[in-house]
Amino acid sequence: MSATAELTFSHDTLTSRVVFGAGRARTDLRAEIDALGGRRVVMIASDRDRALTRELSGVLDKRLVGSFTGVRPHVPVEVAEAARGLAEELQADLLLSIGGGSTTGTAKVVALTSGLPIVAIPTTYAGSEVTPVWGMTEAGRKTTGRDRKVLPRVVIYDPELTLSLPRALSVASGCNALAHAVEAFWAPGATPLSSALAERGIRALAEGLPAVAAAGDDVTARGNVLLGAWLAGASFAVSGSGLHHKICHVLGGAYDLPHAELHTVVLPHVLAFNAPACPAAATGIAAALATKDAVSGVVALLTRLQAPVALRDLGLREDQLEEATDLVLDGAPRDNPRPLDRGDVARLLHAAWVGTSPDASEGPR
Ligand code: NAD
Repeated sequence: MSATAELTFSHDTLTSRVVFGAGRARTDLRAEIDALGGRRVVMIASDRDRALTRELSGVLDKRLVGSFTGVRPHVPVEVAEAARGLAEELQADLLLSIGGGSTTGTAKVVALTSGLPIVAIPTTYAGSEVTPVWGMTEAGRKTTGRDRKVLPRVVIYDPELTLSLPRALSVASGCNALAHAVEAFWAPGATPLSSALAERGIRALAEGLPAVAAAGDDVTARGNVLLGAWLAGASFAVSGSGLHHKICHVLGGAYDLPHAELHTVVLPHVLAFNAPACPAAATGIAAALATKDAVSGVVALLTRLQAPVALRDLGLREDQLEEATDLVLDGAPRDNPRPLDRGDVARLLHAAWVGTSPDASEGPR
């Protein structure tokens, strides 16, 4: 954003109550549900979380009237309908979601039609719990929308619940949060407040992620990554998505590439492309990473995390690059801070496909 653009903005304050701290899911859940008047709670959680949900449901006593465990990635419409049907049949007055972005997403689509309040306990770093964005998939096509009804009323962040996330999933999910915070600097709805949240979020992620990668049982490091995930999600909730997320969405959808890995490969290249047009973003990201410049800081962090670097390693073929260029150009936001033409997209995708370290070659020509 230019200095003038930074002083012209509209900011929607999105309000959720956030309860943060190790052990707090166990100690605070019941009081939080009582404060919202929840008497007929339906829990949404995947089967994976059975032991945890059994334990947490114990504290809810008779308030828990049922559970939905049919969570699937990207919320297929039939899953949404089954979860809505259960909530209606049991006359739920509150939804409790415990799990990653797919679980939160399932609770959101129930809230979208029922207006029920959600208490969310995230167990990954996806950040969906603090955004008003919902998504649903029908016949392979994902529809998304924004509605304040789906924003959880209370979020309980408990780093202990992320201890079970394996290393690879922790890194991938944490990098997804990093992408939210980086993109929040230049996405169309960015404001000085969302940028401040993003900067603090990047700092927490940069501190926590290498430590989590080295020792997954480090609760303080887990806490830092979860803090980063919250702030990154909160900044992204305000700013909306921009070029980076559009590229990932298009490539992921067209070539079925893995979502989280795609983010880590594409992010440094989009940052290298946009940074010259957004000096405030470049300065903020570099400050958060305590490095001289934003691009080398992000590359250094991803290298430390041994994140993948090349689209060819994720399954994209070289002969698909031409078509991918057209698809990305078609979906690219018109309001990207640096205008881009076909040549720019082709160069960016080629560099990301080969896995060359992004540098001045993606800067202004
Ligand atoms: P996910 O919820 O699908 O979880 C990934 C895997 O991790 C699953 O197998 C799950 O069972 C497992 N898992 C979750 N927590 C675990 C834990 N603590 N220990 C061990 N395993 C665990 O994936 P995700 O990355 O959390 O979320 C991705 C989804 O969220 C995507 O559909 C994405 O579009 C959506 N999302 C939405 C928003 C939004 O604002 N609406 C924001 C970010 C992501």
